[in-house]
Amino acid sequence: MKLSQRITHLTEGGSDGWDVFYRARRMIDEGHAVTELTIGEHDIRTDASILEAMDLSARQGHTGYAMVPGTDLLRDTVAARLQTRTGVPTTRNNVLITPGGQSALFAAHVAVCDPGDVGLFIDPYYATYPGTIRGAGATARPIQTSADDAFQPRAQRIDAAADGAVSLLINTPNNPTGVVYSRATLEGVAQVCHARDLWLISDEVYDTQVWDGTHISPRTLPGMTERTLIVGSMSKSHAMTGSRCGWVVGPEEVIAHLINLATHTTYGVPGFIQDAASFALNAGNLLVEEIAAPFRRRRALAMEVLSTQNTVGLVPAQGAMYLMLDIRATGLDGEGFANALLDTHSIAVMPGESFGTAARGHIRVAMTIDDDRFAAALTTICTYAAVLADRRAAE
Ligand code: PMP
Repeated sequence: MKLSQRITHLTEGGSDGWDVFYRARRMIDEGHAVTELTIGEHDIRTDASILEAMDLSARQGHTGYAMVPGTDLLRDTVAARLQTRTGVPTTRNNVLITPGGQSALFAAHVAVCDPGDVGLFIDPYYATYPGTIRGAGATARPIQTSADDAFQPRAQRIDAAADGAVSLLINTPNNPTGVVYSRATLEGVAQVCHARDLWLISDEVYDTQVWDGTHISPRTLPGMTERTLIVGSMSKSHAMTGSRCGWVVGPEEVIAHLINLATHTTYGVPGFIQDAASFALNAGNLLVEEIAAPFRRRRALAMEVLSTQNTVGLVPAQGAMYLMLDIRATGLDGEGFANALLDTHSIAVMPGESFGTAARGHIRVAMTIDDDRFAAALTTICTYAAVLADRRAAE
């Protein structure tokens, strides 16, 4: 039977550089001890107080169909959060609650892309981006950034790729690079969006994980509120990855259409999950800080380890739970290095090539294991890279 092009072409086939990850998982299944620095998931679980709120809500009966756009309480809470963070007046009519940020990314693209349109995204990119754009029926077109420019997207390159485009997807703080986009970068992005009449889809799921600099939402920039769709999530800020709770924030008209989409796709998010999310968002910043703290600590540890050597370079580690390391001095690309590291030292990292072409010669390290093992693994990575670089120099 014939299947739709939309589904069969969602991914481009092949491993897309995920071989190392699957190999590490196989090794673990076979009983090998592997240090996993691959996936972006906290090493703590959802806080007990949030689980209690979830339990209470479920026991009080919030287990039936919830309001499709989201509960009034959660929509108001998210609106207030956005208004506080951006200064832009925001009400529940600007908010759709979704089953996670991924679903919000998909909904945002469905809202603005028609089949045949081009959706732009920035390389390196979070793994699902091109498939999400294709899933919405559009053609996914990457825009290169450069390691030597700290992977900041530049207006000129966006403009050069903008023919036929209706949307631009950005992500700051960034997965996989850990970079936070500067005000100048975002002003450049905004300027192209105006000049080329693009929707800006701004993935801000890491907005509570900023170690250096300031997170600026482009929604705050002049004239951008009406052309920006923000994607947010409880996953990273509150260690609620499995709860599947996120949102799209945007102009009322877009949200009204997206509520229609939700009615015909997800039919909303469980009420007890939404109540837990409302509780968590109203629990204050201390909880958010507590969840971000291990990454902040490990990033500091990494800076210490990396400062003692000069083989491995560090892309400015400004936010999110990852470090992007430049291992080009070894003569290997990211995939070659990651495979050799797994074989030689049983440490699994993601090759930069898993995230497009711009991060070739890099590896992404997730800061998601305890401090001591993390520091030890980084030391091993640096020592091993130095051995490879010396070997290369001797050849
Ligand atoms: N955007 C980025 C950049 C991510 O890294 C992730 C998850 N790793 C998501 C969106 C989606 O997260 P979730 O669906 O859990 O909210």
